[in-house]
Amino acid sequence: MSFEDIPGSNFIKQKLIQSIEKGKVPHAQLFLGNEGALNLPLALAYTTFLHCQNKGATDSCGACPACSKSLKFIHPDTNFVFPVGNMGGDKDEERVKSDRLKTFRNFLLQQPFGSLDDWTNFYGGEDKQVNISKDESREIIKVLSLKPFESRYKVMLIWQPEYLHPNAANGLLKILEEPPPYTLFILVSNNSEKLLATLLSRTQLIKVPMLADAELANYLVKTKNIDAAKATKIVHLAEGNLNQAFKLIDGGEDDQSSEWFFAWMGACYQHRYDKLLASSEEFHQLDKLSQRNLLHFSLSLIRETLLHMLGASVINRIQGNDLERIQKFSKLLTVKKIEHIQKMLNEASFHLERNGSAKMILFDTSIQLAKVISPPKS
Ligand SMILES: [Zn+2]
Repeated sequence: MSFEDIPGSNFIKQKLIQSIEKGKVPHAQLFLGNEGALNLPLALAYTTFLHCQNKGATDSCGACPACSKSLKFIHPDTNFVFPVGNMGGDKDEERVKSDRLKTFRNFLLQQPFGSLDDWTNFYGGEDKQVNISKDESREIIKVLSLKPFESRYKVMLIWQPEYLHPNAANGLLKILEEPPPYTLFILVSNNSEKLLATLLSRTQLIKVPMLADAELANYLVKTKNIDAAKATKIVHLAEGNLNQAFKLIDGGEDDQSSEWFFAWMGACYQHRYDKLLASSEEFHQLDKLSQRNLLHFSLSLIRETLLHMLGASVINRIQGNDLERIQKFSKLLTVKKIEHIQKMLNEASFHLERNGSAKMILFDTSIQLAKVISPPKS
């Protein structure tokens, strides 16, 4: 990963490069961003730049021996620590460890903007709990006792330190108090609230915001061969999340999801519990990511409906069929009802994240939605 592979974020890229040029590289940094922010890609590009033997003004050279290794995520001075669940029955610890690392490198190559969910899907660990085990902190200490092999610095990149086992987190804290020379810790987190405060206070914070709409739209037009109108629609649904935008485009999900959403709302409106039960069962069969995407998508259409009711122009973002359907749907609702619906959808997402039964969650939500959208006349 190089800086040029990452859209936007120019200010952060500059700041990172400057700190290296000035020789003021903090020994521990925390790249913090919400899910879908480009904090992992930026951390990876930063590491590439750090090791590069022929640095340019704005990026690594991409051609030196260090770069060619970094771009394949096999530089011997970059160590990856990442959360993982149970990957299978192999008892040989060393072999499991090396398989895990190989799988992680493949993941980074294939889905450089992937999320933790994508990662667990990638190694087939869906629905399994992930963590960074306490053995891992022993491993970190072992690696740190070695000198850098080829680079000036040894990098310990910890993805999602919020999943550190408490013992591993404490081990890391001790190391951060007295960091070994030429060792850089790069923590990449989506959730600072789950991190130990003491860990936060020992790292230099780099906040990575979500991509701006225009940055994301330009990037999609350039890389995905779609027109500006489609890009605008996707950008709005993806809310600055590049990974999500790719999925919406690749899966054609924006169209299918609209169908699904309006069919769902229609069945709620008509109190068709037979249909609602059937669609809850279908929903249950989907993988967790698709379930989450559908709820996310539904929330964005609800928000769109609200904007429409408040008189905001949605014509640029939502077009054709969807626009007509939103106009029709909005006639059934009030602002208060929409707030209610948003709350229910958020709750449904919340329970889904905690591995509740997808079928029950959707069916319960549907019953409540039906009551709100068209209250039974008494
Ligand atoms: Zn280079």
